[in-house]
Amino acid sequence: MPLSLPAKLASMRICLLLAWALPALAQSTREMNDINWMEFREFVPSKIKTVLLPTGTLEAHGVANNGADNTAPLAIARKLGPELNALIAPSVNYGITGSLGAYAGSMSISEKAYRAYMHDILDGLAQQGFKNIIVINGHGGPQTAVLNDLTEQIGRERQVRSLVVNWWAYCSDITLKVFGEDGGHAGWNESAFIQAIDRKLVHPERYSDSLATARPSAGSWSAYPFPSSIILYQPGQGYVKFDQAKADQYFAAVVEKTGKLIKETIEKWDKAGIFLK
Ligand SMILES: [Zn+2]
Repeated sequence: MPLSLPAKLASMRICLLLAWALPALAQSTREMNDINWMEFREFVPSKIKTVLLPTGTLEAHGVANNGADNTAPLAIARKLGPELNALIAPSVNYGITGSLGAYAGSMSISEKAYRAYMHDILDGLAQQGFKNIIVINGHGGPQTAVLNDLTEQIGRERQVRSLVVNWWAYCSDITLKVFGEDGGHAGWNESAFIQAIDRKLVHPERYSDSLATARPSAGSWSAYPFPSSIILYQPGQGYVKFDQAKADQYFAAVVEKTGKLIKETIEKWDKAGIFLK
């Protein structure tokens, strides 16, 4: 039976809606976890050449979550994905935890195992066709050295461009600017960063300045486990103060500066014609 005019119009509207909704659906996420292989094949490498890989660890962080080193880089990647036209690889949430390894809920992977595992992840991203592999790292110490080594190695072997950003170190000038003082591991800066992402992950009611210890000057003393999970970079600076406005300002400025570094680095690689096929 032929459709009546209103029914025809209704079905046309449905078709139009579908045509409008489908491409939007296909681009509804940039997370590798959440797209299917057909979408991936469509995007990489013809439309998307950059992948953001968040890396961190599980370790005690004062009154912030043990996964703060994972929460931070993932939030940065999610903010920057669209403007960098990047996909976001699943985070690597287990890392090489050092002097805080004995605190409740902290986990550590041996350097040997971490190196082998990260090698295969980075190599896999290169094999999938990404040209720019950007590691947004949330945890320092030997982990940074391993990531630096591996990205260089994969870069040479697979002819890909790679960048490792340790966000808190790269943005230490922003810490000074926003808070008027230096920060620390799980100090005001890092706790504020988490507070800006999700205030439920930070617990002011559990905080006291006595939870913090200043980092020893080189060669002065060393302890395992470190006596506090809040480790101030400078004595007397970086005690957590839970200021939401400053936290939000810090988060925005860190994301902006990190995004600028990634964008400019890719532009410079492009201009230099490096590994362009
Ligand atoms: Zn941290």
